[in-house]
Amino acid sequence: MPSYDRNNVFARILRGELPCRKVYEDEFALAFHDIRPLAPVHVLVVPKGDYVSNADFAASAPAEQVAGFWRAVGRVAHELGLDSPGYRLVANHGPMSGQSVFHFHVHIFGGKAMPHDMTRLPEAHAKA
Ligand code: AMP
Repeated sequence: MPSYDRNNVFARILRGELPCRKVYEDEFALAFHDIRPLAPVHVLVVPKGDYVSNADFAASAPAEQVAGFWRAVGRVAHELGLDSPGYRLVANHGPMSGQSVFHFHVHIFGGKAMPHDMTRLPEAHAKA
């Protein structure tokens, strides 16, 4: 895994240097619409902190940050009206997963039935 680059696109969005279509923000997380949506609802949730990936976040983030981040993910999905129809969470880790932005983030996909074969997601990603 690369080391954390403070100029990655999500770090720049968090600092307000780049725009985003914000959905939600609190002290732990920022959520915004993906610029190349792969579903009718495609929102990214990013923690406020310098974490390359889930492995980094899980190992290094303070417990309060981990809890706050995952509560934000649940709250965003709820506020998007996705609890009942359902939604998919994806977090890519490393090059073989298709991770392209090396600031930990969770994708929330909703608004359509998802293929059960989850390995199709990186393929769809590559074509986006
Ligand atoms: P991943 O491939 O899991 O690292 O996901 C990165 C995601 O970030 C992709 O789905 C991109 O479409 C999305 N993305 C890249 N730049 C931006 C941006 N400026 N605003 C919103 N989403 C972005």
